[in-house]
Amino acid sequence: MHLHTPLVQLTGVGEKQAKTLQSMGVSTVADLLQYFPTRYLDFSKFVPIASAVAGEVVTISGTISSISSRFSFKTRKTVAEATVTDATGKIHATWFNQGYIATALQKGDAVLLSGKVNIFKDKLQLVNPIYEKATTESIHTGRLVPIYKLPEGMFPKTFRKLVHAALPVAKELEDAIPKTTRDEYSLPTLSESIQELHFPKSEESVQAARHRMAFFELLVQQMAVLEHKKILRAQAAPSIDLPKKVQTQLTKKLPFRLTEGQQNALTEIVSDLAHKHPMNRLLQGDVGSGKTIVALLAAVACIMHGYQALFVAPTEVLARQHFLSLAKLLETMGIPASALLYSRSFKESSTTGTLTKKAAQAAIASGEARLIVATHAILQEDVQFAHVALVVIDEQHRFGVGQRAEVIRADKNCNVPVAGSSNQSWTPHLLSMSATPIPRTAALALCEDLDISTIPEPPKHKLPIKTWVVPEAKRAGSYDFITKEIDAGHQAFIVTPLVEESEKLAAKAAKAEFERLAKEVFTTQRLGLLYGTMKGVEKEQVMAQFAARELDILVCTSVIEVGIDIPNATVIVIENADRFGLAQLHQLRGRVGRGSAQSYCFLFSETTSANSRLNFFSKEADGFALAKYDMEQRGFGTLFSSAQTGFALTFGEFVTMPLLAQAKAAAHTIDAKSKTLPEHSRLLSLANKYLQGMHME
Ligand code: ADP
Ligand code: MG
Repeated sequence: MHLHTPLVQLTGVGEKQAKTLQSMGVSTVADLLQYFPTRYLDFSKFVPIASAVAGEVVTISGTISSISSRFSFKTRKTVAEATVTDATGKIHATWFNQGYIATALQKGDAVLLSGKVNIFKDKLQLVNPIYEKATTESIHTGRLVPIYKLPEGMFPKTFRKLVHAALPVAKELEDAIPKTTRDEYSLPTLSESIQELHFPKSEESVQAARHRMAFFELLVQQMAVLEHKKILRAQAAPSIDLPKKVQTQLTKKLPFRLTEGQQNALTEIVSDLAHKHPMNRLLQGDVGSGKTIVALLAAVACIMHGYQALFVAPTEVLARQHFLSLAKLLETMGIPASALLYSRSFKESSTTGTLTKKAAQAAIASGEARLIVATHAILQEDVQFAHVALVVIDEQHRFGVGQRAEVIRADKNCNVPVAGSSNQSWTPHLLSMSATPIPRTAALALCEDLDISTIPEPPKHKLPIKTWVVPEAKRAGSYDFITKEIDAGHQAFIVTPLVEESEKLAAKAAKAEFERLAKEVFTTQRLGLLYGTMKGVEKEQVMAQFAARELDILVCTSVIEVGIDIPNATVIVIENADRFGLAQLHQLRGRVGRGSAQSYCFLFSETTSANSRLNFFSKEADGFALAKYDMEQRGFGTLFSSAQTGFALTFGEFVTMPLLAQAKAAAHTIDAKSKTLPEHSRLLSLANKYLQGMHME
């Protein structure tokens, strides 16, 4: 057995099982070793039978003195029953629906039984204990036992056995952390850590292993950040200025005045654009804080200098939305530039009419199209740009290294010489925009290659969203409330519970809730359903229907398209709100309150323990304050465990600020040393891969 041995080749793994494993992303021994448990059951406490106490989770080592199975007509279940004895006494064990145990174990077998001790008719017994014959090193009992996230058809014991058999091969895994770094920070080796993560000796050794794995992930990320910083420094970008006077002329024509936050952000961006190296800036600002106009002014600066600007939106719907409002703003400001929507359909795709795809591509290649609005698809399709100086990526809540800075390669923008430019190749400036608030200190600590502008508060005219934690008893009342809002011509979102196990289960939960609501609650309203695993086209169709008011209620999982603007929606219901981080709740809440009408957010929660958090949320409207509270309450790791931020690491929840500081220092030390040192090569190649991944994502 080697790292690259396909699992099908192992004894005991059939075709069907291999398929199931593959669905988990596990095809080889190396994959298996890196499929980590999510938690452990502590079966490490061995007790003599006579000392067993009801309520405790224990392991008992004894001999089967009797075992049999029967069918219970009362419960319609097969029941296997055994008596186990040791030197101190005897205890009963009962298994429901596992009749095969009566043949798997036989009288006289030495066994280990792990589970919770119960009392039944005044006698102690074990119900559904995990059993294992006491012949080999115990895997399923008598220790910290790993629990893996497994799909249907993969039994925990089978999987554990496979991992256990593969463990010796862990030694072949190359440790990418250089030995000097490991020594400096007292980190266990990779193979030790893997061993401990699967079959730990103790809680402490698991902690040390998790710590090491998190350190490693951060180290790769930090090496990539340093690498990216160097790349950006070495690249050229067009230097573009936007004098204050021109800014004033432009903004004077807007129907509103820029807020102080918008003005400050614009000043920072304008100063970046003047540099000869590409900008890599994140514009953070709560939903509705007015990021778009700031980005547009930067785009206008580029356009006025004869360049193109590209706006990239995550969905077709958002791209269209942007195109329409940007084209209008350009007109308001008196910029005669031609704006173009590069969309799947090409309907109403330019300010002058409709275009075919070919015509659109020609307009982009010739430089005639100055402001191009598109989805990410434009980056994959082979579109030639004339001279893009600025790329704006909207709703880039996954921010981090790379930032798709090289989304448009230098050689792709420069086939048309620009007046005054030496026709060198360049990398466009990059501005990403995000409404996911990330505490500034954390963001800066993570991304040295990134500059950050923040718009701290939205324009004053918005009504705050009224948020309530709703007790179960008032559920019906809140449905009545929604009905009234719909009768008044508004729309609502109902977000179904967060299911972390899998997208498939989340979809199932959403469908079930959709059916329940349609049948029992909102029988006369028009309901739509949206979840993550739906086809892209179907998703867009539902969104478009909702936007066109052909639906009253959208029942959806937490993957409601970010940034979607339905000003007519005034209510959002969030089920199991306690399962979300506050930053995520805030994102969800931001789906309403976008029009002028009063909006509402109803939070349902199964647990009351989360109430102080939810109550804080219901009273706080500022996303940055919420993110800070979340970080203080739930730790720095939340940043890394949520896919929302794009920092999701396998061991993200074990990241702490000091650990990040260590990884950062280690990255700098390694970077300062010779790059050709062989012990750094693996780490550097991983960092480069990370960088590539961030770009291609
Ligand atoms: P977001 O930051 O969520 O992308 P938008 O840029 O879409 O927010 O702005 C939300 C709304 O606020 C838009 O309708 C925009 O025209 C408006 N807006 C932007 N800036 C101001 C301002 N300074 N005063 C009033 N309204 C503004
Ligand atoms: Mg926006």
